[in-house]
Amino acid sequence: MSVQPPTILLEHHLKALKLPTVLRDYKSLAQICSQERTDYPTYLLRLAERELIDREQRSTERRIKAAKFPVLKTLETFDFSAQPSINEPLIRELMAGEYMDRRENVLLIGNSGTGKSHLATALGMTACTQGRRVRFFTVMGLVTHLLERREERSLERMLKQLERHDLMILDELGYVPFSKAGAELLFEVVSRAYERTSLIVTTNLPFETWTEVLGSQRLTGALLDRLTHRVHIIEANGESYRLKDSKRRLGRARPAKAPKA
Ligand code: ADP
Ligand code: MG
Repeated sequence: MSVQPPTILLEHHLKALKLPTVLRDYKSLAQICSQERTDYPTYLLRLAERELIDREQRSTERRIKAAKFPVLKTLETFDFSAQPSINEPLIRELMAGEYMDRRENVLLIGNSGTGKSHLATALGMTACTQGRRVRFFTVMGLVTHLLERREERSLERMLKQLERHDLMILDELGYVPFSKAGAELLFEVVSRAYERTSLIVTTNLPFETWTEVLGSQRLTGALLDRLTHRVHIIEANGESYRLKDSKRRLGRARPAKAPKA
């Protein structure tokens, strides 16, 4: 009669217990530990640590995926010297994430190409690593989505889903005016987020012109009131990074041209 080796049963149990890292590493680590004459509890501790680290990593990755960032950007790739108007100490403070515990908002205002979306994404990515539920939208995308949901009579469900986030990024409140219904739905989102979910809004519009985009003075006032009650404002007023970058590249390309014979 054949006896099943214990590893088969062990691996079955590890799968059932959802311990993929223990399953992957238990043999190799056992070998290392026996060479090092490590005791059993230490072996078990090291396995448990690996599982825990991988589990955190996996859930961060899940949260980043769920946030639906259009491009992944981090602070490491942000060059503050290229945009001296940006309050770097404030950005670094926000990276710690406490503003979300206080349900504070962040408003990034400035010209196109000054790194607003980059910084908003970097803040969102960091929030994901801190275990926060994050969702990124362009403002237009969000409004379109809400209007569709209303058509399908599932608006309330979507609004409830949005409420479950710790942070929502609303990117590019821009020059394109909303329909009355669109503006009202945006207001509904901001209103429900108030004191529940932190918002990061990026825009190239000074406050004075928000009424033109949102259509109604009363609604703009009420929206700004909620958005700016507890807010960190970051202004980016330098030259477009994209523009500067391509100028720099052009400048570099020129002397590289073959000299005329
Ligand atoms: P905005 O949202 O303000 O229009 P973006 O964040 O989209 O600008 O920036 C445009 C491009 O330039 C992006 O690829 C971004 O990563 C890059 N960028 C902007 N500012 C910086 C910076 N200071 N350092 C590094 N990259 C930057
Ligand atoms: Mg942008």
